[in-house]
Amino acid sequence: MSKVLETRLEIDLGALKSNFDLLKSYLSPTTKMMGVVKAFAYGTDSVLIGKHLVDIGAEHLAVAYIEEGVRLRKAGVKVPILVFYPQLEELKDLIDYHLTPSVYTHRFLEGLCSELKQHNVNKFDVHLKINTGLNRLGFELSELDSVVKHLEAEPKIKVSGVFSHLAASGNKDEVEFTKTQISEFKEARSFFKTHLDYDFDSHLCNSSGILNFTEAEFDMVRAGIALYGYGNNPTEHKMLKAVASLKTVIAQLRNIQKGDSVGYERKFKAEGPTQIATLPLGYADGISRMFGNGKAQVLINGSKAPIVGNVCMDTLMVDVTGIDCKEGDEVEVFGKNHTVIDFDREQQTIPYEVITRISQRVTRLVV
Ligand SMILES: *Cc1c(COP(=O)(O)O)cnc(C)c1O
Repeated sequence: MSKVLETRLEIDLGALKSNFDLLKSYLSPTTKMMGVVKAFAYGTDSVLIGKHLVDIGAEHLAVAYIEEGVRLRKAGVKVPILVFYPQLEELKDLIDYHLTPSVYTHRFLEGLCSELKQHNVNKFDVHLKINTGLNRLGFELSELDSVVKHLEAEPKIKVSGVFSHLAASGNKDEVEFTKTQISEFKEARSFFKTHLDYDFDSHLCNSSGILNFTEAEFDMVRAGIALYGYGNNPTEHKMLKAVASLKTVIAQLRNIQKGDSVGYERKFKAEGPTQIATLPLGYADGISRMFGNGKAQVLINGSKAPIVGNVCMDTLMVDVTGIDCKEGDEVEVFGKNHTVIDFDREQQTIPYEVITRISQRVTRLVV
């Protein structure tokens, strides 16, 4: 008798270690690793993954928001935690929990300094973010003079890092652009080396930067997606191991005939005798409606079964015609044996989006 299990996200810490070691093998032994655990560690579990990354050698962690950093601190994480998008409203927590903000505007720097004054805190660690072409967040190269002037007036700040972010490090057609970003970053770095009378960590590379532009490793790298098992091309995907496997079971099997429809709006119509399996997993669990109507497929007993009809809130239906299966059988939506690339078979989106969307309703389970 098969055991009925609920929909769950299995987390494989061995795969995380293997990906971590692989990335390390691209780097010089002294280069530090910042493990990026924003967005629930890319949809898994930020405390579990963050702690494990520290255990296996990550010197730093990074999150997007202050609240994400607070969660790690409350769970006992002691290493420096960089916050990519700190909000002025949460500065008290930033200071109380000694999180390191990314500073990318004068406005934020002012807000931070006045909060530090109120709390009588000195030499507070920050990382300065420099815009080198992503045009998202960061000081321009032309602003660096004014940044240094601002810092000289604010002895409460200690610049422990200077960083920038690559726009297309995974794209072979944009190598020239990336090289320009690298040289602009070098310019910013030398500027601060000249104007600050103490040392700091420089960092530029995200996952695909590590894999494709090792010459830009500087003092530290920021690894996200590759730690979770995904790269930017089939070769990279093969070297990495999926940390998260989304699994469920067949809730019900049914045979339908030519002309019968499946699901809301009757989007699927059988062309002949068809076997349909219903899975207890829907868009409220993070499987977007864009994956309905054959755009994605799951793995059942070694065979691929396409989603038919519209994805519902709590369920979806797949075509299992010709697949040897029964109610209660395990289904791998994506994971170790069936990657997100296999699931999202028309590559409608990127692995980042698929894995970070798995909702908190889904039980996380360490295997
Ligand atoms: C998310 C993020 C990263 C990690 O990028 P990956 O491509 O997932 O490795 C690094 N740096 C910044 C600023 C980020 O926002």
